Amino acid sequence: MRLQFLGGTGTVTGSKYLLEVGGLRVLVDCGLFQGWKMLRLRNRAPLPVEPASIDAVVLTHAHLDHSGYLPLLVRDGFRGPVYCTAGTAELCGVLLPDSGRLQEEEANYANRRSFSRHDPALPLYTEADAYACLQRLVPGDFERDLPLGPGIGLRLRPAGHILGAAMAEISFGGRRIVFSGDLGRPHDPVMKPPVSPGRADWLLVESTYGNRRHAPEDAQAQLGRIIRRTVAQSGVVLIPTFAVGRAQSLLYLIHRLRAEGEIPQVPVYLNSPMALDATEIFVRHQGEHRLDRAQCEAMCRSAIAVQSAEESKALNRQRGPMIILAASGMATGGRVLHHLKAFAPDPRNTIVFSGYQAGGTRGAAILGGARQVRIHGEDVPVHAGVECLSSLSAHADADEILEWLRGFVAPPRQTFVVHGEPDAADVLRRRIADELGWPVCVPDYLQSVELNA
Ligand code: ZN
Repeated sequence: MRLQFLGGTGTVTGSKYLLEVGGLRVLVDCGLFQGWKMLRLRNRAPLPVEPASIDAVVLTHAHLDHSGYLPLLVRDGFRGPVYCTAGTAELCGVLLPDSGRLQEEEANYANRRSFSRHDPALPLYTEADAYACLQRLVPGDFERDLPLGPGIGLRLRPAGHILGAAMAEISFGGRRIVFSGDLGRPHDPVMKPPVSPGRADWLLVESTYGNRRHAPEDAQAQLGRIIRRTVAQSGVVLIPTFAVGRAQSLLYLIHRLRAEGEIPQVPVYLNSPMALDATEIFVRHQGEHRLDRAQCEAMCRSAIAVQSAEESKALNRQRGPMIILAASGMATGGRVLHHLKAFAPDPRNTIVFSGYQAGGTRGAAILGGARQVRIHGEDVPVHAGVECLSSLSAHADADEILEWLRGFVAPPRQTFVVHGEPDAADVLRRRIADELGWPVCVPDYLQSVELNA
């Protein structure tokens, strides 16, 4: 077996791991690079391996940093099956076409306003490319053995990160390699905890929060405090949110805050058609999360759906306190950009981040204290308050990752720390070496390792 790291090294984005096993080439995850420009440029360079030479893809979950390169892989010649859970397939059906549409819109917008340095700006891929790649998805159940090829087995196990999220176990000749995917948290209010891992000869573990502990304050209390304060000063609470996962958790928390009389009755807008679709998928998959049907319905009713671009623009002219949830979660694109232009300059408003902000994104800049950000070629001042609901994270923190690792029946022969920025990956590597005594390393981009039977 041979393993090559085609992404997810030194960054939380671009996850792609190429496994050559039993004569097959299997790509585990097919993510987009996001954030720093030098990373994003990799999306536009040819993949270091010929797409047509890959036999199968396995997706751990639907987030774009794990699935968003699939339209390009298929456009450039990949013709094999893409294995994933049913939840992941349904969410990809929403996320990938939206990603293609957004790239087309941004290229058009850049060309109209001619602020792009590329002339003309071209979308990375189109909505049509995204629909084409969906044909290759092969949805399956959690905890079922699936043959990838002769003597090569795949099992997808619940990872608790978002709906459909799995860790992938690939077995061959009595050996097993485990890809953690993104790991959820043991006590999330909405998602169930990741399953205990069992056995692995080799392990890839994510390290998004490998150097951090999430705040002990519960997210509901923190969000309640932020909303009360902002509403008291007649401000707008603007929440850039990932349409899948965080949007549903936030809606549920807002519903609970209202039901418990913790926040005043102000309008709440969910300004993301994609988040609305994702919420429907979430409601259909009862049993994968902790909410029952009544709680799901209450969650759905807690916000006013904003569908059209016209309604979205009208919000920017509306006066008085309100809460707006809009994608994207790291303010890299989507409708939230127009809201940031409208609301970031006013000190009465609060911008609330609800998930990891990858280096190089506007979200990371604002959270890091930037007093202005560039949006659509304009400098926008940031005078609004800025908050982060870190305890609402969909990722395990460092202690929770260590706790999950302690669930292995024996140390893997080698553990690879991936999906983290350099500091986070290195701190987790040291903790795994010091506290567990396991052989562990942080692989480099394009590094290739032989996994000897
Ligand atoms: Zn994720």
